[in-house]
Amino acid sequence: MTYVTSPHSGDTPGDFGRDLLSNLYYQRGTTLESASAQDTYHSLALTVRNRLVDRYIRTAAAHYRANPRFIYYLSAEYMLGKQLDQNLLYSGTEDSAHRALEGLGLSSSDLDALDVEPGLGNGGLGRLAACLLDAMASQDIPAVGYGIRYDFGIFKQAFQDGGQVERPDDWTFYGNPWEFHASDDQQTVGFYGHVEPLDGVRKSWVPGEVVLGEPSHMLVPGYGTSTVNIIRLWRARAARESFDLSRFGAGQYGEAVEEIVRSENISKVLYPDDSTELGRELRLKQQHFLVTCALRDIVRRFRLRNSDWDDFAGKVVIQLNDTHPVMAIAELMRMLVDEEGLEWDRAWSITRRVFAYTCHTLLPEALETWPVALVQRLLPRHMEIIFLINHLFLQEVAARYPGDDAKLRELSIIQEGGEQRVRMAHLAVVGSSAVNGVAELHSRLLAATTLRGFAELWPGRFHNVTNGVSPRRFVRLANPRLSGLISERLGGQAWLTDLDRLVELEPAADDSAFRERWREIKRLNREDLARHALAATGVAIDPDALCDVMIKRFHEYKRQLLRVLHVVAQYHRIRRDQVVDVVPRTIVFGGKAAPGYYAAKRIMRLANTVADLVNEDPVVSPYLKMVFLPDYNVSRAQLIIPAADLSEQISLAGKEASGTSNMKLALNGALTIGTLDGANVEIRDRVGADNFFLFGLDTTEVAAVRERGYDPRAYYDRDAELREVLDTVAHYDKDIVDDLLHRDEYLTLADYRAYVDCQDQVARAWRDREGWTRTSILNTARSGFFSSDRTVRDYCRDIWHVTPLRIDG
Ligand SMILES: *Cc1c(COP(=O)(O)O)cnc(C)c1O
Repeated sequence: MTYVTSPHSGDTPGDFGRDLLSNLYYQRGTTLESASAQDTYHSLALTVRNRLVDRYIRTAAAHYRANPRFIYYLSAEYMLGKQLDQNLLYSGTEDSAHRALEGLGLSSSDLDALDVEPGLGNGGLGRLAACLLDAMASQDIPAVGYGIRYDFGIFKQAFQDGGQVERPDDWTFYGNPWEFHASDDQQTVGFYGHVEPLDGVRKSWVPGEVVLGEPSHMLVPGYGTSTVNIIRLWRARAARESFDLSRFGAGQYGEAVEEIVRSENISKVLYPDDSTELGRELRLKQQHFLVTCALRDIVRRFRLRNSDWDDFAGKVVIQLNDTHPVMAIAELMRMLVDEEGLEWDRAWSITRRVFAYTCHTLLPEALETWPVALVQRLLPRHMEIIFLINHLFLQEVAARYPGDDAKLRELSIIQEGGEQRVRMAHLAVVGSSAVNGVAELHSRLLAATTLRGFAELWPGRFHNVTNGVSPRRFVRLANPRLSGLISERLGGQAWLTDLDRLVELEPAADDSAFRERWREIKRLNREDLARHALAATGVAIDPDALCDVMIKRFHEYKRQLLRVLHVVAQYHRIRRDQVVDVVPRTIVFGGKAAPGYYAAKRIMRLANTVADLVNEDPVVSPYLKMVFLPDYNVSRAQLIIPAADLSEQISLAGKEASGTSNMKLALNGALTIGTLDGANVEIRDRVGADNFFLFGLDTTEVAAVRERGYDPRAYYDRDAELREVLDTVAHYDKDIVDDLLHRDEYLTLADYRAYVDCQDQVARAWRDREGWTRTSILNTARSGFFSSDRTVRDYCRDIWHVTPLRIDG
């Protein structure tokens, strides 16, 4: 086979400009003189995209020839971030594009502002998926990401009277220039209906409702290599001829499109919640929709070069990103047994080898379960299959623990007692060859608590793979100034794909001229942030003040409330003129709360109230400012992180699985104030205890406090400053204080004094500017481990057993 190479191969600014004008002319039917802003933006995007297509075609051809083992990454969420900045960098056309645009009198920042971030995820889990796809491509791992092309992504956040209001994110309103539609690769997905016997264990499912899954894909280029993988996103559509012409003719416009609407609703909206189980049938439909489309596509791709099912597990790895895609285990069994006619045992052996499962939580309320009655109604055959999987599994357990009924109840995929429910995490562990947590502490706790029985049964199945972040996205694109300085010092850009090389910066920490430049860059980044903050909130912040950042989803366990309590304490200290221990600070908040999560929204409202209190006080505001930047997303993260001096990672120990903003911030030279939770533990191990502000209870102490009977009120009675703080808060929100004094589920008051004292240590350290800068440089230099490239290497070695496949050229 031969492949025509792209006509868009020139790399000079002249080539780029010519292609841009050509795209304007032929794709948008206009010229530079009459083009709208959208015309120009779309043409620019196509010009950049074209430069990746050639690489993609070569990648696909090489994959076809080599017939390698593929990683199929299944995730209900992806937070990809803007594509324009990424694809300019990854196609190596940043410079020529810049100069071409300048030559044409176009502003690249105006055009970048039109690039819409696909917000197809809630937070850390979705961003991890994006960082892993990026790292797989950058390391030449043959991989495809599968997800849902939601019409509406994560809501846009605004504030009204300090409270969160949610607006729909119609991200494709002007079209998405980055995606390719492939309407002829449609799949059909069934729901409801009944099951008919065939022979033996083999049955036939006759769905009562059928919808189509229509794929489109976006390119996932590797950095510094030729590989371009794809992410395939599925949109639900009604079968053809679903439009009821006669009803429309009779004026029944709503009824005429009823079936279309019902089908398309499946991929209409991302569920804006990543932590608690939503008992919504539509969500389960989404999961089954994703899983079915992905599996059929995987089998289609397998059959391009293979025919024997015994080769399937050698060619296919399916990584399940949390439990949302776990129904794939039952669906693959259904396909193999019912449709392909394989023996149950053979099908099970294949299935088990193919899947691997990543668990992202320890919170029991976040472990997904579905009512058996619902699954039975929506997916009758899958429910039968799950029962049979469970039956055979429990026989295995009974053989291992004879007479131990408690063990059977503990491990069963079906939760008994009250309404029967399917435990998706149990199905995932039983049906996978590998299970991993996302940080050392998390993996240890997972095996010791949440999934303990399974870890005892199959110790070899449990792994740790500590999360990582893309250094391209979160250092190079986010922080071009710092990247320039690092490249200058290290003599090139190799560190961007070999992040351990950052250690070579260590000697620079003792070079005062280098420190000066490091500080200057932080200052310039803070100025950028100040400009954005002023425009977004009307609050002017001092670019010289310590930039103290807490950016993450609002959740009680993450303890934004603890952060707010410290701000109120500082407020009182400054008012009382105790400025001896106060350094000027800007407190930056960013993060959304799930729309139905009232406790988190209340804390958010309090944060906004306290921000007003602080910012409007003439005595306090010269020392302390607080800005809550609305609509936190990947683009906002790229703006905030480079400006940060202090990274707030203050969750209650044992609650945060890993965290990744802690990694992004450390890599950009922020010092961490944090508890021994998630990946904080590993960050501290690497940067050194002297370069990390540790406070608070560890997991053992948390257990001990609870064991003794936690009495939050005692802390209030003992600590006069805390009393003053809570009395002030009660003035604005009495319920929050009542809850803290009587329940305080996340031990905020138990950690309060240690936290505030540790913040005083931060202030003292900040006054020693040379010492602070030294520590900042060491944080960056020693955080190379937290590259998602390393994460992918760990997956390849311990779980996937794949090797890179270089694409020539
Ligand atoms: C990195 C990232 C997160 C995860 O933040 P954590 O502090 O680890 O919870 C969430 N949202 C966005 C937009 C991110 O970039």
